[in-house]
Amino acid sequence: MLAGRTTTEELLAYLVAFDTTSRNSNLDLIGFVRDYLAAFGVDSVSVPNEAGDKASLFATIGPGGVGGVCLSGHSDVVPVDGQPWSSDPFTLTPVGDRLYGRGSCDMKGFLASCLAMVPAMTAARLSTPIHLLVSYDEEIGCTGVVPAVRRLGVDLPLPRACIVGEPTSMRVVDAHKSGMAYVTTVTGREAHSSMPQLGANAIFAAAELVGELDRCRAELIAAGDPSGRFDPPSTTVQVTVIEGGTAGNIVPRRCAIRWNVRGLPGFDEAVLLARIERFADEVVLPKLRADAPEATITTDLVYKVPPLAPQTGSPAELLALRLAGQNRTFAVSYATEGGHFQEQGVPTIICGPGSIDQAHKPDEYIEVAQLRACERFLTGLIAECGRS
Ligand SMILES: [Zn+2]
Repeated sequence: MLAGRTTTEELLAYLVAFDTTSRNSNLDLIGFVRDYLAAFGVDSVSVPNEAGDKASLFATIGPGGVGGVCLSGHSDVVPVDGQPWSSDPFTLTPVGDRLYGRGSCDMKGFLASCLAMVPAMTAARLSTPIHLLVSYDEEIGCTGVVPAVRRLGVDLPLPRACIVGEPTSMRVVDAHKSGMAYVTTVTGREAHSSMPQLGANAIFAAAELVGELDRCRAELIAAGDPSGRFDPPSTTVQVTVIEGGTAGNIVPRRCAIRWNVRGLPGFDEAVLLARIERFADEVVLPKLRADAPEATITTDLVYKVPPLAPQTGSPAELLALRLAGQNRTFAVSYATEGGHFQEQGVPTIICGPGSIDQAHKPDEYIEVAQLRACERFLTGLIAECGRS
């Protein structure tokens, strides 16, 4: 086990070496962080998932009770499958001023910076607590942090500000889109393709639904982004996966389409979903049922990530701008765990080292200068939290 002070780079090398691809358990990494914190006298609370093979970790440095500033990051990473890496993705590899490795940027660099500052946090006799939250399953719908967030203000302290350290190149992000994923499944009836009147073609039906989603897409683009802050400047709709049919001479019984929506803050996805369901029930399903009364069309929500809505002048925004030495905030189109904190009543901004441009790609890296900038940010935070 690590003893004494450990640098951010050393900690990042340890964290990268845990293959915490979202499909894997993250318990080894969580155990490492728990033991590291314990070495500095910091207790932590594990919040496991239902299966017990993954967990979040919550720890408080400084006085207990409510308030304080939460530093939050996810432990899971996206897969490296099929990606052409120049080095072992799970061995942190320095080349010049870059550190290569899966998760180096998204977002173990932030976690390593926070952990490296723990000795300074414990030595500072904080009057305002600093909380650390390490989550899981962020990359598959931002779901893993939810059980821990739901406990903030219940049996865990309610922070007065949260900083989610996703890679923003240390810029302060106060707004992002929501993310919803759905699967619409059409079930018709199989038949020999020479006798189509005996069947009900699920792919033709699904294609009509794809057409309606495409019309929604175009209308939302035309409606644009009144805030003028987002790129692209609208709510977006995409069909991402389509699967159906079994053979070239069979009328297909089943077809499923997966689609996702990235909504501007304030966008009401229930209205869009109701339109798709109404179109399915009133336009598409009657045609299927004319030939196959048992036909169905169902749409299920796979996940929903709430948006981050700007809260101008919130404690989180003012704190982060001050610590980052900046005077303006940014909006991004990718979703984060930040919206869940905001829904729980915790003012939240996104600010962390590394660029999103390097995330999820082969040869993901973080610049050493970004880690230094994050450490300066955290040093400022410790100074603020040390004042009484
Ligand atoms: Zn991330």
